[in-house]
Amino acid sequence: MTAKISTRKFDVVIVGAGGSGMRASLQLARAGLNVAVLSKVFPTRSHTVAAQGGIGASLGNMSEDNWHYHFYDTVKGSDWLGDQDAIEFMCREAPKVVYELEHFGMPFDRNADGTIYQRPFGGHTANYGEKPVQRACAAADRTGHALLHTLYQQNVKARTQFFVEWMALDIIRDAEGDAVGVTALEMETGEVHILHAKTVLLATGGAGRIFAASTNAFINTGDGLGMAARAGIPLEDMEFWQFHPTGVAGAGVLLTEGCRGEGAILRNANGERFMERYAPTLKDLAPRDFVSRSMDQEIKEGRGCGPNKDYILLDMTHLGAETIAKRLPSVQEIGHNFANVDITKEPIPVVPTIHYQMGGIPTNVHGQVVVPKNGKHNDIINGLYAVGECSCVSVHGANRLGTNSLLDLLVFGRAAGNHIVDFNLKTKSHKDLPKDAADRTLARLARLDGTTSGEYAQDVANDIRSAMQQHAGVFRTQAGMDEGVTKIAALRERVANLELKDKSKVFNTARVEALEVENLIEAAQATMVSAAARKECRGAHTVYDYEHPADHPTAPLGRDDANWMKHTLWYSEGSRLDYKPVNLKPMTVDTVPPKVRTF
Ligand SMILES: Cc1cc2nc3c(=O)[nH]c(=O)nc-3n(C[C@H](O)[C@H](O)[C@H](O)COP(=O)(O)OP(=O)(O)OC[C@H]3O[C@@H](n4cnc5c(N)ncnc54)[C@H](O)[C@@H]3O)c2cc1C
Repeated sequence: MTAKISTRKFDVVIVGAGGSGMRASLQLARAGLNVAVLSKVFPTRSHTVAAQGGIGASLGNMSEDNWHYHFYDTVKGSDWLGDQDAIEFMCREAPKVVYELEHFGMPFDRNADGTIYQRPFGGHTANYGEKPVQRACAAADRTGHALLHTLYQQNVKARTQFFVEWMALDIIRDAEGDAVGVTALEMETGEVHILHAKTVLLATGGAGRIFAASTNAFINTGDGLGMAARAGIPLEDMEFWQFHPTGVAGAGVLLTEGCRGEGAILRNANGERFMERYAPTLKDLAPRDFVSRSMDQEIKEGRGCGPNKDYILLDMTHLGAETIAKRLPSVQEIGHNFANVDITKEPIPVVPTIHYQMGGIPTNVHGQVVVPKNGKHNDIINGLYAVGECSCVSVHGANRLGTNSLLDLLVFGRAAGNHIVDFNLKTKSHKDLPKDAADRTLARLARLDGTTSGEYAQDVANDIRSAMQQHAGVFRTQAGMDEGVTKIAALRERVANLELKDKSKVFNTARVEALEVENLIEAAQATMVSAAARKECRGAHTVYDYEHPADHPTAPLGRDDANWMKHTLWYSEGSRLDYKPVNLKPMTVDTVPPKVRTF
């Protein structure tokens, strides 16, 4: 079968043209490698474009700061599930990648002295938790937009080859398990191609569309996760999903944490600044898991706003029209367009909304995909890398701090690029494609093309989303998660029975959607099964059944370090779980020992 398929050869194939994919491709193209970047959409429409608030780096332009503080905050923010070697690497590299971006032409906001403008952000502090720090490097509230356009232009200059509206379908692994390419669907023609490569890098972004209410773009269907899961690679820590405190109620569109960085305040139905009660030091700028839980608690206790008491108000009226126009122009537009609110005059209704996956494809600090093998916890898969939101290094652990994702894209996109350059210069030739290179993909497509009955992909996708919303929310219960596991298993059977009614070739979006649902189900099942198995509360995984530590009533409910300070690994085959230890040993500094997390 495979012989008939068009095959192209590159040094490196990158799946994904968001911030992480394009930071990696830039490094490779500049080194003279032949690089192909595939994207389902035009590169600058990747979800990175929607990032608003900023990039974390301890430049210390506006308040005293250094990377040790950033390191401490990130470990604490991760609720001690982040690997401290990777966190140290990221925080130390941060100023370098931001200055590099500045030299690429990124239009950051400026201070009067010409340095990059930095705003406060949740969980980022000076002097180890003492007070908020100004660490988020920002271009108004359009930081991701500025970042993505800068990287795209640099890539055009470096002659990166883009394959726009090409959807990668499966990873090709040879008999030794090495990655040697991907299969992809050219959406315009409906043709399937093999892209043969010395190295494959996945940069497909998050799977936020497994939930019903999400700040994520519609393309965020977890394709890289699905590709990895089908290729026998486990997914790490998928139970940890971040709810962003301030999605516009009813619309899901994000209002950046930069609003609170600029001084916005959350208020309940009594007009009270309730975060003072939950996080006396950082208040509205506590980390996201904390703030989302506190908001949900206010709503549950009857202090929600509006006729149904089901949202919280974000108040920016005291910031002044001038600051809002200068620092938060998009937020002002979003308020007007999605809530019919003039944020300079009245507060805007918000609810915690799914935003970011902390878990993903397991990697090391070079971006190499690692799996348990040969008696090692982290054995590399030759030729396979993953960076950005689809990967789990793990720097975010159980809860990501705002601004640390854009940073993660830059640091690990660059690091993976550098590692691949070294590796590719040494390996001169491509490994052979296996005879069955495209068989899995062709079988998936043939099944869809052969259907005469079955369900419509979007109906099944919607049921996946509502099951996830119901069973894996801000507050979880053991019984609820167990029920969710059963529901998702039943949904997997329905995914196997999707029908493709329109079998045409040219730009058939129904085929693309059906293929995406096959990825959604992998991400959803990984999340549900991993969550139900974790019998503690940590970071964004909050389960009612596990009690508060008696001496810390405001701390997150019980974290169980003795039994659960470990990473989850979920395998698609048999929906099996495994675990590996957290690395508490940084590269050069002392460990941050676990303690109760208060703010
Ligand atoms: C509204 C919003 C605001 C945010 N604000 C911030 C912020 O201020 N600071 C911060 O640090 N983080 C922020 N985040 C998080 C951060 O923006 C994302 O985690 C990050 O941009 C993801 O980048 P990425 O490179 O991993 O993937 P993305 O930017 O999501 O790009 C994924 C790419 O993969 C491609 N792709 C996917 N599947 C396939 C396939 N099968 N075949 C081919 N191509 C494929 C897509 O076309 C796209 O090009 C925000 C997120 C959202 C949703």
